[in-house]
Amino acid sequence: MDREVDVCIAGAGPAGMVLGLLLARQKFRVLVLERHENFDREYRGDVLMPRFVQMMRRVGLFESLQRYPHLKLDGFELIIRRRLAARFRVSQLSPEAPFILWMPQPVLLGALLDQTKAFPNFEIWFNAAARAPIREGGRTVGLEALLEGRPVRVRARVSVGAEGRVSVLRRRGGFELAVEEHDFDVIWFTIPKPKGYDNTVRVFLSANHNYLILPKYPDHIQCGLLVEPGGFVRYREAGIDSLRKELLDAHPIFRDFAEGLTNFKLFSVLAAKADRVKQWAQDGLILVGDAAHTCSPAGAIGVSVAVGTAITAAEVIADCLRSGDCSKEALGRVQALREPEVREIQRLQRPIAGLIVAQGPLLKALAAGLLFLAARTGLFRRIQRRIMVGPS
Ligand SMILES: Cc1cc2nc3c(=O)[nH]c(=O)nc-3n(C[C@H](O)[C@H](O)[C@H](O)COP(=O)(O)OP(=O)(O)OC[C@H]3O[C@@H](n4cnc5c(N)ncnc54)[C@H](O)[C@@H]3O)c2cc1C
Repeated sequence: MDREVDVCIAGAGPAGMVLGLLLARQKFRVLVLERHENFDREYRGDVLMPRFVQMMRRVGLFESLQRYPHLKLDGFELIIRRRLAARFRVSQLSPEAPFILWMPQPVLLGALLDQTKAFPNFEIWFNAAARAPIREGGRTVGLEALLEGRPVRVRARVSVGAEGRVSVLRRRGGFELAVEEHDFDVIWFTIPKPKGYDNTVRVFLSANHNYLILPKYPDHIQCGLLVEPGGFVRYREAGIDSLRKELLDAHPIFRDFAEGLTNFKLFSVLAAKADRVKQWAQDGLILVGDAAHTCSPAGAIGVSVAVGTAITAAEVIADCLRSGDCSKEALGRVQALREPEVREIQRLQRPIAGLIVAQGPLLKALAAGLLFLAARTGLFRRIQRRIMVGPS
């Protein structure tokens, strides 16, 4: 073996980094493998809900995170067919964390990495792609990886798949999916922020287009067009004029951007897939974050849910390492503790996704009517609170 550690984590996303940091704090030898050469990425988990802020406070990381570049979004509006259906301040839902945090994911990951510098027992390898679990007598004893293209083997008492929705350890480890859904896609693009635009998250549902407008750090606006699965391909086939027309019809704020479009390069597509693995743990190996359970983007809570599992996993793995029992049953406590919340969130996201992608004039009108009713009766706010903040 090229290296021996207590815990080897594949994937330096939010889940892998939080897990690695929390284990390093407890003096375990941690090695994180990250496939990319750095943390650069865009349109990835920048909107962090109050439940994330509360979790970061609980593990003593929020004070230091606040020192890094971010925006605080404090308002939320739902506009249905040009009528304001719901408006609230985040403080009304979450007095303890009265804002949605906008922090570019490279900034968040860099901030977590800075925290690990206090721990010589923490190590991260970039350009290191996990390939497969190493198995001895039916249990995982480490990971095979390619480090800058060169095969390496890392021995670990516990190995972790935190490589997100494309998890190779999930595939190569033989984990099975219990649920897999794909309700809609989001076509993201960014425009400059008009002068005086406030820090409010806006969701627009109309007869022809559904979209989101989110202020983005430092002085931009991120927009997301919500379309049926594969909807971007439809625009590509029809040509850039089709998407330009859609944007010009949708909102005046898109005008300059739409008129300047010559190709599709400025767009990024997120497939709103949701899934959940049946058994998250095997002997010596566990999946955390999106690798174990990918949430739909409805509600922008992917990072919060992934990190929630990482925090629980840090406690369970630490217990396993101390007791010397890293069996499937002992590591499986992570799933027992986390799955009820993950299931509930995925259950709440389903109807939202259904309303977003309702097709045809009749279904669209029905979806708009139902959402209006939900907004007027306070149901919408209760669901938002449950998603954005968590259990009261
Ligand atoms: C376009 C988009 C926009 C999103 N927007 C939001 C949002 O605004 N708010 C929100 O809360 N959530 C959002 N999400 C969801 C959110 O990004 C994820 O839920 C969250 O990042 C999951 O964290 P994770 O650490 O489990 O996985 P990831 O963030 O996916 O991290 C996995 C890491 O593993 C690395 N990796 C992959 N394969 C390997 C390998 N074989 N070996 C080593 N490393 C590997 C990847 O490079 C990556 O760094 C968005 C997702 C997408 C795709």
